[in-house]
Amino acid sequence: MAIRFDGRVAIVTGAGNGLGRAHALGLAARGAKVVVNDFGGARDGTGGSMTAAETVVEEIRKAGGTAMADGADVSNYEQVKAMVAKATKEWGSVDLMVANAGILRDKSFGKMELSDFQKVIDVHLAGTFYCCKAVWDGMKERNYGRIVLTTSSSGMFGNFGQANYGAAKAGIVGLMNVLAQEGRKTDIRVNTVSPTAATRMTEELLPPQALQLMKPEAITPAVLFLLSDNAPTRTTLGAGAGSFAQIKIIETEGI
Ligand code: ADP
Repeated sequence: MAIRFDGRVAIVTGAGNGLGRAHALGLAARGAKVVVNDFGGARDGTGGSMTAAETVVEEIRKAGGTAMADGADVSNYEQVKAMVAKATKEWGSVDLMVANAGILRDKSFGKMELSDFQKVIDVHLAGTFYCCKAVWDGMKERNYGRIVLTTSSSGMFGNFGQANYGAAKAGIVGLMNVLAQEGRKTDIRVNTVSPTAATRMTEELLPPQALQLMKPEAITPAVLFLLSDNAPTRTTLGAGAGSFAQIKIIETEGI
């Protein structure tokens, strides 16, 4: 049976490009009202405009879905709170949170500046914490919530040049472990997805032949499963190239 999200309100951060865009489109196509968040900045986390988010909202509306754009910088808690308040005012609640926004500042450890560490921690780890914090009380009150955080194999095994990113991504798993336990009493389920997909982030790192096999859309079924009523909790789901077996399992479950 196909998963539907009719009546649910979702926020997807970093949804102007890549994975977040694919998740936002997938949610909207299955009936969710979607806040398409993206601060639209450069890859290193500087600058910003809402154009990318607005373009995705247009795509969703053209396909008959419901969406609004939001330009909050996830590393700014006031802006994250304002985004959640806007969605709640417009649509009544936030039921589903996909914390996906991210940047890279790869450098070998010897060359990594403290600011390269701080910026990546601010966006990935603090930003993810803020997104969870801003929706938590509402989810507890309504006794329902699904939260999907984005981790990476870099957090488990490490990639060269990613001391900052790997530390943040490992921290996100730590955050999930606690929130999943604290959410249990109130049907809040918290999981992480560990994607391998062709996005602006990976295209710098991998050869073109590998990227052809790694469309962001291949990750979305895993995320939709983790957002569904039947989601597990406290799980890290590897998805994408290298994790075809898990995607296959999800596909045969009928998602
Ligand atoms: P991936 O799809 O692999 O996560 P992308 O670079 O394609 O990588 O997408 C990440 C998205 O996250 C970008 O669209 C970027 O603008 C967005 N983003 C980065 N930092 C922030 C931030 N602080 N707040 C909101 N969105 C952000």
